[in-house]
Amino acid sequence: ESIEELILRLCATVPDYPKPGIVFRDLTPVFADGPALRAIVNALVEPFAGQFDAVAGIEARGFLLAAAAAYATGTGVVTVRKAGKLPRPVFTEKYELEYGESALELHQDDLQAGSRVLVLDDVLATGGTLAAASRLFAQAQVHIVGYGVVLELSELHGRSALPGHRVRSLLRLN
Ligand code: IMP
Repeated sequence: ESIEELILRLCATVPDYPKPGIVFRDLTPVFADGPALRAIVNALVEPFAGQFDAVAGIEARGFLLAAAAAYATGTGVVTVRKAGKLPRPVFTEKYELEYGESALELHQDDLQAGSRVLVLDDVLATGGTLAAASRLFAQAQVHIVGYGVVLELSELHGRSALPGHRVRSLLRLN
């Protein structure tokens, strides 16, 4: 079984969540399967091996991938969080949602200027979230070695929101 087949087999598809007309891809059953979790984490870090000092996870499912990837590679983990959750001075980047606006934050001193980070999340859709993360790390003067996602929803063209960056996705769906 290939990694694409493994993810496709375990991924759940939820129609009309969180709103009517949206087809939500739920990867939590992939994370819940021991061999699958190990396979996806290994596949996400493999192209970037030896090139990063820390792994960043996007709240909340990205945290699971980032912590596992950091542990597997002996690097640190940092959290990119929704606004208002981090207790000390932060960098903030707003981004557009389908309805309204949101913001992501990063502690200003979690990573040193000049360090190298791999950024992980579960799903790449429009790319708005990872583009905001990329502006956060630019503020911090941290180099992004690449992005890794388990699932890329290709028809939303998220990659084009991340110009000049390497994007590793393990499964592409429309
Ligand atoms: P984007 O900003 O449009 O690329 O959306 C990506 C963010 O929304 C990620 O943090 C995902 O966790 C979440 N997301 C968007 N669509 C889905 C989905 O179908 N399943 C799970 N998460 C999703």
